[in-house]
Amino acid sequence: MSGSTQLNALETFLQGHPTIKYTPPSSPDYPAARQIFNSSRRDNPLAIVQPQSSSDVAALVKYAKSSSLPFTIRAGGHNLEGLSLVEGALLIDLRALTAVKVASDRKSATVQCGILQVELANALWEEGLVTPRGALPSVGYVGWATYGGYGPFSSHWGLGVDQILGATIVNANGEIVKADESLLQGIRGGGGLYGVILDLTIKVYPLTSLLAGAIIFDSSDITKTFVDFNAAYEKLLETEALPPQLTLQQIAFKAPTGRAFAAIFVWSDANIEEGQVWSEKIASLGPLVANTVAPTNVPEWFSGNGALVPPVVSGSAYTHNISRVSPAIAETIGRSLASMPADPGTMVSIHQLRGPSTEQQVHSSLFAAREPHYMLEFLGFATQKNVREISERWAAEMTENTKQAGLEYLLPSAYVSLYNSGVQAKSSADLLDTIYGSKVETLKGLKAKFDSQDVFSLAVPALK
Ligand SMILES: Cc1cc2nc3c(=O)[nH]c(=O)nc-3n(C[C@H](O)[C@H](O)[C@H](O)COP(=O)(O)OP(=O)(O)OC[C@H]3O[C@@H](n4cnc5c(N)ncnc54)[C@H](O)[C@@H]3O)c2cc1C
Repeated sequence: MSGSTQLNALETFLQGHPTIKYTPPSSPDYPAARQIFNSSRRDNPLAIVQPQSSSDVAALVKYAKSSSLPFTIRAGGHNLEGLSLVEGALLIDLRALTAVKVASDRKSATVQCGILQVELANALWEEGLVTPRGALPSVGYVGWATYGGYGPFSSHWGLGVDQILGATIVNANGEIVKADESLLQGIRGGGGLYGVILDLTIKVYPLTSLLAGAIIFDSSDITKTFVDFNAAYEKLLETEALPPQLTLQQIAFKAPTGRAFAAIFVWSDANIEEGQVWSEKIASLGPLVANTVAPTNVPEWFSGNGALVPPVVSGSAYTHNISRVSPAIAETIGRSLASMPADPGTMVSIHQLRGPSTEQQVHSSLFAAREPHYMLEFLGFATQKNVREISERWAAEMTENTKQAGLEYLLPSAYVSLYNSGVQAKSSADLLDTIYGSKVETLKGLKAKFDSQDVFSLAVPALK
């Protein structure tokens, strides 16, 4: 069927569903409505539809299935490869669905599918509650949590994927159903492979004080600073038990003064004095320029972090997991940092996974990388067109060099949300093995059970 025939048929369907907001390519709003984080994704969707209710989503899935119309799902638009846009596919945008309902026992909350990290975090903070979430405000919560979900509370309460207690989905028949235990296992790691997730019920925790900030180190010799910090940090890990309330994320980015290396510090506990002792300990691991760690709150913390990353970039990301930042790995990353392109889109970020998500699992999931590890993010993005290729090449080379420098610490796993599937994976089988490891057969079995006709064929990750 041609694009215009598909559009005509879609418009006829939408006449019967006037609540669904419709943006066709001819609309002056289409370019802005099509916008996502990675602007190098040039695909143009057939049209963009924005359902206003769960039944709108169900009607759209039913329609798309009966018309054999391929469709994608978008919430925050922060898939690193821009996979929510596919040429000629209908784009279902979930951003209108953002409700949050805290359970009466205040141990869980049910959150709708279009909510962003910042919206959820602020809504919970008003109730004196938090839940693990990512580092940036504009990322979609459901896409973050269901594929893994590393972030500033991971060491304390675990990954996003381990907070999921329940879900409502639109299944492959276009029906609204509550996920049973086996479907929940698929959603925990497989995200949208089995349906459109309408809401998640997640664990929440009481917290009314937050100690957080950036510990910024002198980066005039960024290689030495990075190497020395990591050597001192590894030593600290060997000699002291790091409290779970402390989560650190190492980052290198373009500051107004040039390339800078910092540790983002988050202390999620009411005992602020103890947190301050740890902040000083971390600050002593390198040549300190500024320690901004101070009592704060979630809304303030998010607005500070949001300013670090541009809203739109172009390029590609690379990731792999390692068990240890050995001296050779630190030296290799450190040397690359010295030639990091000076663009605000180009960054390095290192999340460390320790704590509950590496221990015995309470819930079954498809998330495979359960050993303690560092998830390396080499972000070859740029805001300036002429820097994009340089930045991508820089990130690709750093990835390869880092792997070679630490083969004994290289883990077989990688994080789907940061993985450059077009470049890093040799085939779709290789992609699945890398991301899901021993869980691949379970993933395939669940796909056969819940979506045998591959209605959700354009979900992340691509299975074919
Ligand atoms: C700047 C930036 C910072 C990031 N920071 C972190 C971080 O700190 N920690 C971390 O772990 N990850 C991080 N990520 C990765 C991010 O969590 C994932 O890319 C996430 O999937 C993005 O969700 P989204 O809704 O914004 O993306 P979208 O592009 O809107 O969605 C991506 C895909 O997820 C699926 N999907 C999303 N929602 C649903 C739904 N309701 N039902 C079915 N399928 C759905 C669909 O397949 C969709 O195409 C970051 C990404 C970026 C770009």
